[in-house]
Amino acid sequence: MRTDPLRYLADELASLREEGLYRQLRILDGEQKAHTDFDHRSVVNLSSNNYLGLTTHPRLRERAVAAIEMYGVGSGSVRTIAGTMAIHVELERRLAAFKQTEAAVVFQSGFTANAGTVSSILAGGDAIVSDELNHASIIDGARLSRAEIHVFPHKDVAAARRILESIPRGHRTLLITDGVFSMDGDLGALPELCDLADEFGCIMMVDDAHASGVFGRNGRGTVDHFDLHGRVDVQVGTLSKAIGALGGYVAGSRALIEFLSHRARPFLFSTSHPPSVAATCLTAIDVLEQQPELIDQLWENTRFFKAGLQALGFDTGNSESPITPVMVGDGAVAMRLSDRLFERGVFAQGIAFPTVAKGKARVRTIVTATHTHADLQFALDAFAAVGAEMGIV
Ligand code: PMP
Repeated sequence: MRTDPLRYLADELASLREEGLYRQLRILDGEQKAHTDFDHRSVVNLSSNNYLGLTTHPRLRERAVAAIEMYGVGSGSVRTIAGTMAIHVELERRLAAFKQTEAAVVFQSGFTANAGTVSSILAGGDAIVSDELNHASIIDGARLSRAEIHVFPHKDVAAARRILESIPRGHRTLLITDGVFSMDGDLGALPELCDLADEFGCIMMVDDAHASGVFGRNGRGTVDHFDLHGRVDVQVGTLSKAIGALGGYVAGSRALIEFLSHRARPFLFSTSHPPSVAATCLTAIDVLEQQPELIDQLWENTRFFKAGLQALGFDTGNSESPITPVMVGDGAVAMRLSDRLFERGVFAQGIAFPTVAKGKARVRTIVTATHTHADLQFALDAFAAVGAEMGIV
C-alpha cells in the first residue's frame, strides 16, 4: 500500500492541537455585521475589518445588483487581454482623484497589490528596507523581487537610518511601512521615514490597507492624515476592509501605474474583478465623500471601547486606531480568552504565532461605525468577567 507522502502535515496539525493553537474556522451564518451570528451563536462581532459597515450598505447592494444586471457576473479575462471593462477604468480614475495622485491601478486584492508591486518595481541588486511588522504580502513581494531585504525593528527610525547608511549610494532602495499595523493598530513612522527617503533618495511606499476609509480627510489614508502629499511614491490601499467589497489598488505617478500594468504579475496573469465589485467600490467612494459621519462614528466608538478596555486594566499595547489588541503573551491563553468570550457572546479572534511573534499573543478587537453603544458595553462586560475569571486583570 502507498504511504501518504503528506503525512508530515497531519503531524504538524497534531502538534498545533497539543499546543492549543489549532484554529477552527468560525462560520458566519448571515451577513458581515457588528452584531451577527457565527457558528449559530448570536455575537457582538469584534473581528471584522468592516470599519464603516459598508458590506451591507443599501446603496452598495443596489449598485452591485444593477451592475450584475447590466454587465453580467464576471469579467472573463485578465486585464491585459479582454478583462478591462469601462467600469474598471472608471474606478481607477475615481481612486486617483480621491487619493490626489496622477493615476491608480486596481488589483484583485490588497495582498496582490502589495506583492505584485514590490516584486515588479525592484530586482536583484536593489534593496528593500522594511519595518519588521510589515504585512506578509510585502514580505512575499520582497522575496519574489530578489532584492536584498533589510528589516528594521518596529518603527525604529534610527535603525532604518543606520541600514540606509550601510547601503552603497546609487543602489535603488525601497523604504516601506504599513500605514496602520494590522495586529497592533499603531501608525507607521511615515513622516520620519519620508524624511529619510528624501535624504537617501529612496522610493517611499506605504501600505494603507487599514488606513483606507479610516484615516485622513474622508478616509483618504495616512498620507493625507500626516499631510505628506507628493512625498510618498507608492500608496497601496485596499477595497476589502472599510470599502466593504474586495480588491486593492496602487496610487501614484502615471509612469508607476503604467509600469505596473505592464509588469505586475497579478495584473497580467489573474482575472480582473467582476464588474459588480468595481461598481460597489465606486459607490463606496461616493459614501466616503457624502457620509463622513460614518467615519466620525467609527472614531467615537473606537475612543469609547479603547478607554473601556484600559479602565478594566487590560494591556492594549500602542494602538492608535480602531484595531485594539488585548495583549496576553501566551498563545494558548489568547485562544482560551477568545473562546471564553465567544461563549459569552463576543467574537474577538485570538492571534498567536506565526501571525505574531512568539510571546506576543493577543486577542484582537476591531470596532466599527455600526456597533451600538449597547454592543460595546456588552463586550466590555464580557471582557471584565472573563478577564477576572482567567486572572488576566
Ligand atoms: N496589508 C495589510 C496591512 C493587511 O492587514 C491586509 C489584510 N489582512 C492586506 C494588506 C491585504 O489586503 P486584502 O485583504 O485586500 O488582500
